[in-house]
Amino acid sequence: MLSAPAVEHGGRNAAGTTHRSLAERDRGLLWHPYASLDGPAPYAVLGAAGTKLDLEAPGGQRFEVIDAMSSWWSAVHGYRNEALDAALLEQAGSFSHVMFGGLTHAPAVILAEKLIDMAPSGLEHVFFADSGSVSVEVALKLAVQYQRAAGYSRRARFLALSGGYHGDTFAAMSVCDPVDGMHSEFPGLVAPQLFLPRPPKARLIKGELRSDPLEVAQWVGVLEEMVLTHLDELAAIVLEPVLQGAGGMHIYAPECVRAARRVASEHGLLLIVDEIATGFGRTGRLFASEWSAVTPDIMCVGKALTGGYLTLAAMLCSREVAAVITASPLRALLHGPTFMANPLACAVAVASLTLLDSEPWQRQVGALEAGLTAALAPAAALSQVRDVRVLGGVGVIQLNVPADVTALTRVAVEHGVWVRPFRDLVYTMPPYISSAEDIAAIGAGLCAAVAAVHGQ
Ligand SMILES: *Cc1c(COP(=O)(O)O)cnc(C)c1O
Repeated sequence: MLSAPAVEHGGRNAAGTTHRSLAERDRGLLWHPYASLDGPAPYAVLGAAGTKLDLEAPGGQRFEVIDAMSSWWSAVHGYRNEALDAALLEQAGSFSHVMFGGLTHAPAVILAEKLIDMAPSGLEHVFFADSGSVSVEVALKLAVQYQRAAGYSRRARFLALSGGYHGDTFAAMSVCDPVDGMHSEFPGLVAPQLFLPRPPKARLIKGELRSDPLEVAQWVGVLEEMVLTHLDELAAIVLEPVLQGAGGMHIYAPECVRAARRVASEHGLLLIVDEIATGFGRTGRLFASEWSAVTPDIMCVGKALTGGYLTLAAMLCSREVAAVITASPLRALLHGPTFMANPLACAVAVASLTLLDSEPWQRQVGALEAGLTAALAPAAALSQVRDVRVLGGVGVIQLNVPADVTALTRVAVEHGVWVRPFRDLVYTMPPYISSAEDIAAIGAGLCAAVAAVHGQ
């Protein structure tokens, strides 16, 4: 059995710390995402391989579970992947990090070439950031710089979608859903942006996303009116194409993205697509923008970029946008993180994108879509379930009550599945390498957890 090393914390009694579980030592010491310091104790990960995590529950019990979350969309090739491990070690044997100011290196150049190769055609330049939120900051900044350089210095606001999620830093927060995005908690600090209604939902029917044409036409009407009303102050439209993730796991009509593209082009606005969650095959297309056959002016990717190994994100933009910046008095994009284009992260990302092709992702995500559709279907009959939906490698059980996260997690873990519900959503985006048995087990585990906790 693996055991955690005994670490003595400054000023603490060493004997006291060694006999307490990791969960106990963590509690009150570490902040976790959107959680209170005295919240429910976390599970400790003692190891991970393939699709599995080796967990120690707060009470000390051990569980082997399938990671139904892919560590939040990222670990698409699973854990301890041989090719990714090798890429990381090889780069570490060469050099781990160097500054990117005035220097370059093979991992960054090769990764940028690969990204441009894969991305919707028309995107030709890459900016590496150290997290998804930062890449969104860079995208927003670029859009404002672009408008100023093009002679529109008043164009500095964004049109975003209700129900969107784009990250946790202040500018990224400003384009998140204005109610769920906690704007009211930081009065005066979150820039007031403009918001369209949530776009009308779509259903996956025989490989196509179908929606109500009337609802779509209405939504497009609101979009057009909003853009016309605020034309002189808008820099760009920002959206997650076709699937809104953390803002509600909402699958919507591709026509809405197409309309945003058209309206943006007609009025000199940029279209920024946030593919941080949806990129690299997760929705069944390499990029979710492809459902709408649009090329954005700016695209952000992150999460699965390194196969979940290291934090890395990228902002891609068109030649036209970059040319305007280069021709401006500033000439540069005004951003430059210390760990920009970290070579370890870039090297693993190159290996991860190479694997995507060879495995190949289409077959894997197709199997996830079919498997999840079948395995989650029984949940639809449960009394507190409002909707069950699947798109690509994403499966969602939406409740008509708030999810009891702690209870659902416990029951799912007992069924061999790691899941992290939020709000009214119990959802999964399994690693692409999941076997048919893994997918069936995930479906059974989620259905069992929902039945046990929200069955009545
Ligand atoms: C996760 C996410 C982000 C933020 O990325 P971080 O790496 O967590 O900063 C932004 N946009 C979308 C759509 C995301 O899913």
